[in-house]
Amino acid sequence: MTEQIRLLSIVVPAFDEEDVIGEFNRRILDTLRELSCEHELIYVNDGSRDRTPDILRGFAQQNANIALVDLSRNFGKEAAMTAGLDHASGDVVVIIDADLQDPPELIREMVRMYAAGGHDVIYAQRTSRSGETFVKKASAHLFYRFIGRLTGIDIPRDTGDFRLMNRRSVDALLQLRERHRFMKGLFAWIGFRQAAMPYDRDPRFAGKSKFNYWRLWNFSLEGITSFTTAPLKIAAYVGLFTSVVAALYGIGIVLGTLLFGNPVAGYPSLLVVVLFLGGLQLLTLGIIGEYLGRTFNEAKQRPLYFVREIVPCRDQNPVPARTDGVVAPE
Ligand code: UDP
Ligand code: MG
Repeated sequence: MTEQIRLLSIVVPAFDEEDVIGEFNRRILDTLRELSCEHELIYVNDGSRDRTPDILRGFAQQNANIALVDLSRNFGKEAAMTAGLDHASGDVVVIIDADLQDPPELIREMVRMYAAGGHDVIYAQRTSRSGETFVKKASAHLFYRFIGRLTGIDIPRDTGDFRLMNRRSVDALLQLRERHRFMKGLFAWIGFRQAAMPYDRDPRFAGKSKFNYWRLWNFSLEGITSFTTAPLKIAAYVGLFTSVVAALYGIGIVLGTLLFGNPVAGYPSLLVVVLFLGGLQLLTLGIIGEYLGRTFNEAKQRPLYFVREIVPCRDQNPVPARTDGVVAPE
């Protein structure tokens, strides 16, 4: 069984990538030329503050297969990717970073794997993480273990957004319009037949990663809170456990007083218990707050992004006329 590709869409989110985007464009076009299938290259400018949008507009004007979706501000990579996917019309779509950490040449291998048949999604899986610090590697490892245990959804390790998806998996993904977009989780959640393609992740070609540890921490919180309510349950169990311990302790005190009298000691233990319980209550409230905040954000039902301008591909079907993050009713 083999799969034919009629139109291959490449989606590239870009935020402040003026140093790399030229080199990226050259390498991806080389790759696409060798693939010699119909293709469209969709750049999403995610509110860059540098010359990235001008450069991208230039690409789109020079090359009939290149489109630019210019977002109204920086919405974050997840929204930018979604914008690109919304505007991709290919029956097969590849998502790739602009910073050359995902080598564009690998798309050939992905397409080959897909064409062999039997898969809906081919995701790239890192075998090495050159150029990344020990702390980043270790925290990533911990995060995957933790979330795997907690959610029950098998999120593949060492997997980013670099992947090939066919139309039905893209359509499935696009039905998930939640605001808190933990893409790794969403990619896994849709299911279908997914296969890994191992690769060596290169260090960034130029420019700086926009991820720092605070963002990484928030990213982990995002992953956990948007995929599992386990922390709420854990809080409930911790509460149950402390009340049982408190009840036993209470019985102990009563018995102790009855048997041995009450010498009115215990100020330190009283303070410890009060502080401990106070802390526990605040923590639990915080966890509830996290979920409440997310519910609040989802309840607003805001579009995921707004588009300032679309420079469409010239020789293909017109880009679907979506001007914001809302999918037009079919
Ligand atoms: N990116 C984006 N919007 C953002 C941050 C990043 O579109 O707010 C893009 C960025 O241009 C790049 C990709 O997402 O193409 C990955 O970003 P980065 O290299 O900073 O992340 P890392 O590789 O460190 O995970
Ligand atoms: Mg990067």
